[in-house]
Amino acid sequence: MTLFPEMCERVLDESIIGRSREAELVEINCINIRDFSTDKHRRVDDTTYGGGTGMIMQCQPIFDCFTALTEKIGKRPHLIYMSPQGKTLSQSRVKELAKLDNIAILCGHYEGIDERVIEELVDEEISIGDYVLTGGELPALVLADSITRMLPGVLASDEAFEQESHYNSLLEYPQYTRPYEWHEKKVPDVLLTGHHANITKWRREQSIMRTLERRPEMLENAELDKKDKEFLKKLKSSE
Ligand code: SAM
Repeated sequence: MTLFPEMCERVLDESIIGRSREAELVEINCINIRDFSTDKHRRVDDTTYGGGTGMIMQCQPIFDCFTALTEKIGKRPHLIYMSPQGKTLSQSRVKELAKLDNIAILCGHYEGIDERVIEELVDEEISIGDYVLTGGELPALVLADSITRMLPGVLASDEAFEQESHYNSLLEYPQYTRPYEWHEKKVPDVLLTGHHANITKWRREQSIMRTLERRPEMLENAELDKKDKEFLKKLKSSE
């Protein structure tokens, strides 16, 4: 639900998300809130009570847009309002949201949205970080992308995201492709051995090492086995 559906369509038509929509692995509709305005000039915003700069999106078009959407689907979707005041998006929340059948995402614009319609409709507020953007469209696209790539069939295999940064509270290991040597830097030898157990061990250790260096606080939630813990202990003692 947005005032700028074309902006969203343009992004959602491309690459992996575009192909997933075409293959009907996911259905994403960009709905123009303005189409639901009952104002004769199709107005959707007004000045703020109490004074101040900027315009506020009004309740009526948003409420009617959501009501129409609910009727179209046949049941009420989980409604997320993209907001810098929401809880910061995390991979674990994305994993949970990917299990829901229907999600509606509300994009604010200008100075934001009349609080009353948020109170009445919104199930959850999500922020994409501690900074303020001009609108909720980019955050909504971030959310739609992160959820879609978790859906069955979207990526080549589940392993594709299970190894990735944040999935299990670890950052991913470094990756390389051809050529073997570039700017006098060589690919680590272990990756050329074809020895799967050694490669897996090397990757796991790199992953733990990176997380310790860059995001040590993540390790508190990581699932580490006995070997991982021993490796981590060694790393910490050599710091
Ligand atoms: N006046 C609002 C405030 O201070 O909380 C900010 C409004 S912002 C300029 C306009 C819209 O952009 C918001 O309604 C929201 O939908 C979106 N937005 C801005 N920053 C965001 C963020 N970090 N995460 C999610 N949505 C954001």
